[in-house]
Amino acid sequence: MTHVITGSCCNDAACVPACPVNCIHPTPEEREYVASEMLYIDPDTCIDCGACADVCPVSAVVPDYDLEVGDEPFEALNAAWYADPGHATYSTTSARSPVVTTERPGPLRVAVVGTGPAASYVVDALLSIRELAAEVTVIERLLTPGGLIRHGVAPDHAGTKAVGEGFNRTLRRPGVSVRLGLEFGTDVTADELLSAHHAVVVASGAAGGRALGIPGESLRGVHSAVDFVGWYNGHPDHADRTFDLGSERAVVVGNGNVALDVARVLLAPHESLRTTDIAAHALDALADSAVREVVVVGRRGADHAAFTAGELIRLGQTPGLDLVAHDAEIVAGATDPITRFKMDRLRAIAAASAHASSERRVVFRFGLRPIEAKGFGRVAMLSFESSAGEEEIDTGLVLSAIGYRATPVPGLPFDPDRAVVPNVLGRVGENSGVYVAGWLKRGPSGGIGTNKWCAMETVSTLVADHEAGRLSEPSRADLHLDLPGLGLSAWDAIDRHERDRGRAEGRPRVKVADAWEQRVIGVEK
Ligand code: NAP
Repeated sequence: MTHVITGSCCNDAACVPACPVNCIHPTPEEREYVASEMLYIDPDTCIDCGACADVCPVSAVVPDYDLEVGDEPFEALNAAWYADPGHATYSTTSARSPVVTTERPGPLRVAVVGTGPAASYVVDALLSIRELAAEVTVIERLLTPGGLIRHGVAPDHAGTKAVGEGFNRTLRRPGVSVRLGLEFGTDVTADELLSAHHAVVVASGAAGGRALGIPGESLRGVHSAVDFVGWYNGHPDHADRTFDLGSERAVVVGNGNVALDVARVLLAPHESLRTTDIAAHALDALADSAVREVVVVGRRGADHAAFTAGELIRLGQTPGLDLVAHDAEIVAGATDPITRFKMDRLRAIAAASAHASSERRVVFRFGLRPIEAKGFGRVAMLSFESSAGEEEIDTGLVLSAIGYRATPVPGLPFDPDRAVVPNVLGRVGENSGVYVAGWLKRGPSGGIGTNKWCAMETVSTLVADHEAGRLSEPSRADLHLDLPGLGLSAWDAIDRHERDRGRAEGRPRVKVADAWEQRVIGVEK
């Protein structure tokens, strides 16, 4: 018997040090960790003790005898990782979490910008180093903390959102004070924060979408998936957007997990969305949607598809949805076991495609590079270039899911090519006292838990600078008292309000997506 890691794995690797026989890989110390889709349990080494399941924040680890219907493919996926000869010889000595300590006593005062996964892991890491006696001021532009947990994770992925409960607790830990509705770089600068803190860690993420850079991109009906995701998740910046859902076919450019998220949400039956926390305006609009087919297009071959095996498995289990692929586009050649697993599933999808009979379908296409969006005023078709020549796909809705992009943060340097703040192991400049973590530091990649190790790296750098006396003493003692913005009680009021409304409708919450309404609720209740 063995334990199995299933689809909602968040990659935070909390399970790794819990395992007494080191049977969960890749660990954050192993080369493959950064690019790994998830973690895998070696069925031959696992002693079935359950220690990993006890610490998993998203309940992704289950014993094989307790796998839920639909989770069976994850048993084969876990085993597939160890089928690679390079993965067969891991040591069975227990792995340990890296420990950061310091001889130099605190208190160390740090301002952390953002409340998403990266920022939350930074706060956690700072508080975990007892010698620092860290005092942390958290600053968030919105009144609703959570970053991508609230505004990025798809509404039908409730299991993944569970990791946010820990982040919410972090904001309430002793030593943490929170100011909401305060924008770094505009309402408060790094210098102002440094007058009361030893350091500032900016983990405000990547809020924009990358541009396709093709003619016709500005036609009506062509949108970034980042806007669509923000819209259906009730992000105040995107709540007012409109998407024309009157066309039967939508095209999603790019085939990462965001592409699969938007394809699934576009096609999900109303009954399955109305029990989630999807924004009310999106729920209503999608109920009237005419979209029945979503073509997900990768510019490279299937072996380069960016979606994870777990998300492909989950997509295939969506009720009322057929998956379609063309065998000729699923070329052989993958060498690593997880890509081979994905290719096998795609081949199985292609083999079953002739029998696809559902009203709703996701069609996978590969090797098509978008070259132009065509139409008069609004998009009517998307042209692609392929090895076989040009191809056009008729559509009234194009969502480009080709990656997030950070926007420059006022007062910080910016590398426009990589869309990151240039840094060395999280440190910005020489002795600026400013650090970065998360997508603003390394670009928009990795699962939620990848940010834990990214945050630990930044905090290690910060602590080393503290130890070496490179951080300036703050000149004042009370900045957070002077900061404008609202405290956590504002979010508590919004949270209560949303949950109360949700209870009445049989949903986890009904989000307040309007920034002004959030403020009224936050101030008055
Ligand atoms: P992503 O995984 O980086 O995928 C981007 C896709 O866009 C790739 O297929 C890429 O193809 C394609 N692309 C890039 N530039 C293009 C262009 N000019 N023309 C056509 N295609 C282009 O990005 P993402 O989907 O936004 O996801 C971001 C991160 O969040 C990922 O690490 C993802 O796994 C994670 N995420 C996870 C979940 C989940 O676990 N459920 C959900 C959402 C997001 P090439 O490979 O050819 O560049």
